[in-house]
Order: sequence, then C-alpha cells, then structure tokens
Amino acid sequence: MPVKNCMEAFVYEAIENMLDSYPGICTCEQCQKDIAAYALNHLPPKYIRTNIGDIYTRLDLYDKSQYTQIMRAVAQAIEVVSKNPHHQPGININK
Ligand SMILES: [Zn+2]
Repeated sequence: MPVKNCMEAFVYEAIENMLDSYPGICTCEQCQKDIAAYALNHLPPKYIRTNIGDIYTRLDLYDKSQYTQIMRAVAQAIEVVSKNPHHQPGININK
C-alpha cells in the first residue's frame, strides 16, 4: 500500500502563505526546500494511504492545535534559513 507523508503538503502550503509576511527574505527554490526540511524535522510525520480522499486528511489536519504547530515550525524554519542561507545572499542557485 503506497503511503505518503501528507505533512509535507501542509508545510509547503504554510510556507507559501507565510512567505508574504517576510518581505526581506530569499524565496528561491533552494531556500524554500531548506525551510520545508527544517520545519518537517520539527513536526511529527503524518502518513496517509495515498488512495484515501484528500478531504478527510485536510479536515483532520486543520485541527487547530496542529495547524498552530505547523505555523510555528515554519516560522522558526524561515527565521533560521533566512539567517543562514546555503548560498551567497542575493544569488539564486537551483540545485
Ligand atoms: Zn535562496
């Protein structure tokens, strides 16, 4: 049975929504992946069978406490990655 960690999708969604609130930071693909990786390392994985309807996962995950937890992890990740980008400031590198 194929499974996927649907926390990834939620972290990427949260990053997209939250980057607007951080106008000064690099939003290149590499930094976004670093942010996602950092946040995911601080969040419990949430595995679902891929053939389950997305709607149930979403309802489940939009449980408020969990969403707050995601937002907090992403905010922290943005802070850490924007201060320590894995590339020269202002240069976008696609790895
Ligand atoms: Zn970058």
